[in-house]
Amino acid sequence: MTWSEYKEKLSHHDFSKKDLTYIEDAFFYAEEAHRGQKRHSGEPYILHPIAVSLKVASIGMDALTIAAALLHDTVEDKGTTLKEIRKRFGTDIAFLVDGVTKVDKIKYHGVERTVESMRKMFLAVAEDIRVVVIKLCDRIHNMETLDALPFPEKQMRIAKETLEIYAPLADRLGMGEIKAHLEDLAFQYVYPEEYAWVARELKNRLPERELYLARVIPIMKKEIMREGIARAEIHARAKHYYSLWKKLQRNDMDWDRIFDLIAVRIVIKDIQDAYAVLGLIHKLWKPLPGRIKDYIALPKPNGYQSLHTTVFCIDGQIVEFQIRTVEMHKEAEFGIVAHWAWEHEGKPKAGSQINPKLAWVRQLQEWQGTFQKDRSTSEAFLESLKIDFFKNRIFALTPKGDVIDLPEGATPIDFAYHIHSEIGDHAVGAKAGGKMVSFDYELQSGDVVEILTRKNQHPSREWLDVVKTSLARNHIRRFVRGQSGSAGGKQQQTEIDITVEDRVGILKDVSSAIAESGVSIKDIESHVGGKNPYASIRVSFVPHNKEEIQKIRTRIKKVKGVQAVKITEKTKTGMKT
Ligand code: MN
Repeated sequence: MTWSEYKEKLSHHDFSKKDLTYIEDAFFYAEEAHRGQKRHSGEPYILHPIAVSLKVASIGMDALTIAAALLHDTVEDKGTTLKEIRKRFGTDIAFLVDGVTKVDKIKYHGVERTVESMRKMFLAVAEDIRVVVIKLCDRIHNMETLDALPFPEKQMRIAKETLEIYAPLADRLGMGEIKAHLEDLAFQYVYPEEYAWVARELKNRLPERELYLARVIPIMKKEIMREGIARAEIHARAKHYYSLWKKLQRNDMDWDRIFDLIAVRIVIKDIQDAYAVLGLIHKLWKPLPGRIKDYIALPKPNGYQSLHTTVFCIDGQIVEFQIRTVEMHKEAEFGIVAHWAWEHEGKPKAGSQINPKLAWVRQLQEWQGTFQKDRSTSEAFLESLKIDFFKNRIFALTPKGDVIDLPEGATPIDFAYHIHSEIGDHAVGAKAGGKMVSFDYELQSGDVVEILTRKNQHPSREWLDVVKTSLARNHIRRFVRGQSGSAGGKQQQTEIDITVEDRVGILKDVSSAIAESGVSIKDIESHVGGKNPYASIRVSFVPHNKEEIQKIRTRIKKVKGVQAVKITEKTKTGMKT
């Protein structure tokens, strides 16, 4: 694709001359960087960043983010290229490109209990919502071209990752359209038979349904006009494959129980009109009891707003209607980026007010635990793009790509003990990002850390000064004590099993509730995800006395989302790990 063809595709986005020059510069830089490279399909590589950047543009992102999308695959090793990009395009764009590159290094192993920590890791490493947006578009294009990948196993891994990490992330950011698109793209790879079945059934069922709705919609239009409701858009909208299949599973695979196979969507100007239209529908047709849902008054957790109702329509057939305002519609599709009005260099346009009621702002504030009512200035807006809701945690990687979740300021020794006590006990050196680092080096999110070990190496007392986690501290202390002759006696260890709502940040909240009391936590296990809406967390620790256990119990119960707390006391031999 030539620059002028590309520019043509951006033409409906009214970019300034300055913006276009900036994008043009990135376009040619990327073309040069990928010259001679090919994709698995045999196409020139540059078509990939071009496609990604056009998707980024189509959801309304600014010139800077579009340029970053063009450059997103140009940095292979962290060194020279990134510096060059910084020099030529500025620090903001280098920051975005670096974020995308770091996220690319995270590997996903598909273990159920790590899914949630993967999502967190992803966000923590990305550091900026715009990086997440680029990665989501990158993933959409990779999924769209996945059949060119000649390795079925790799296809499967990528598709699963899409279903379990990327789609839920898009969902949490309120980007419904992107979420559904990612799910449908992955569906055919992860569940090919089921996909084929759903596609076949739909092919049989949809035409008749479409014909039927072609009778319903004009009636609706006429009624809305007669009521004097301005600028209503009405269209039929088929359900996405994957969400349909999930719904079928919840309904014994009974197609007759799916009323929104094709729903009628009505988009109107304001909330008043939404309720007026709902009234109109109910005047025309009798609603099914219990199926009127007011997501305007009570939005879904990810911010989704609409009115839903299901009625006995013409000839007694059942039809679902969804009514929402233009604002809600945009938000439901693009969530977090729906209301961006950008200027060059990633700053919101002067005077662009951020409505703090917007779902994604709420969501972010909730994640960041900094809910404040009047953060509507541009500054707060930019701030909210920064993902710092894991402020006190860092996520480092093993060379295999496993995520190790540590407190801020943690060092290679903490890291070593969190992999395995044997690795901690025998550590002689550490590398971060391929370079040797000292034991007091403070790990950064995204660091790939390699621990060098030697059999006859042992922990030293000095290590106690550099470690940040009680896990590492306990191991070192135990060893040092053992050295000075005292044998390990019996130890009272307490286990707490906690049932919690599976919400973002719960593990952090629970562990900090326990850590506040100063006991040494031996182990935290968590089981999240899956069909169960609840997750379980098991914490083992050594209490100083009995009263402390009760205090901890009370503290845990105060954490939002905790359902039940069960305490078991165990006696363990102190020396063993
Ligand atoms: Mn890419």
